[in-house]
Amino acid sequence: MNYVVTIDGPAGAGKSSAAKALAKLLNVHYLDTGAIYRSIALILDEAEIKPDQPEFIAEALRDIKIELRDGAVLVNDIDISGEIRTPHVDKIASDYSAVKCVRDALLHLQQEQQNFGSLIAEGRDVGSVVFPNADIKFYLTASPEARAKRRCLERELKGEAVNYDETLKAIKSRDEFDSKRENSPLKVPDNAIIIDTSEINEQETLNLLAKHVKEVLKI
Ligand code: C5P
Repeated sequence: MNYVVTIDGPAGAGKSSAAKALAKLLNVHYLDTGAIYRSIALILDEAEIKPDQPEFIAEALRDIKIELRDGAVLVNDIDISGEIRTPHVDKIASDYSAVKCVRDALLHLQQEQQNFGSLIAEGRDVGSVVFPNADIKFYLTASPEARAKRRCLERELKGEAVNYDETLKAIKSRDEFDSKRENSPLKVPDNAIIIDTSEINEQETLNLLAKHVKEVLKI
């Protein structure tokens, strides 16, 4: 039996690590919806189409072919996964993803991933809008300070320069924007299991998720 598990929550709550690790543990597909929004944002930004130009965005989206392959996002056959995790793309992904035609254009692509087998999907609206009938919904959260620390560490490990205060400010403003937008705002989906990861590490988070999944799905 195929199943869908969704993991929503704000930036830096540990969704990606948890979703990837859970998918690996259960040997099922992983869907990183943030990567799709990041890729589209980067392409539109490079084409100098602004978030307040929905007609141009809609036109551009008609010519953009997006494919998901082995965890990578291919836009018009080019893998841009390596370019989408920068502070600039953090910001523009949030801006473009608030635009209705962007969300509408990406809904089907996300939903059809469940046709390829069981799925762990991660994002901001995967439990509320994309897969409202998911078998299990999680909402991962953590204090803004804990999330900013994690983001800094991630970027430090990649050898990038980091500034904690700026990261904290950017995280708070992105969350506020994602939560207050009109289209598919970040919110706790109905019936979601809420997990606060401020004081627990990746392994403990994974153990909690896996315990719930195994109990509910009896696998
Ligand atoms: O999860 P990640 O930080 O990669 O997401 C980048 C941005 O993409 C988020 O801040 C949010 O604005 C947007 N996003 C979204 N809906 C999703 C996933 C991501 O709006 N399902």
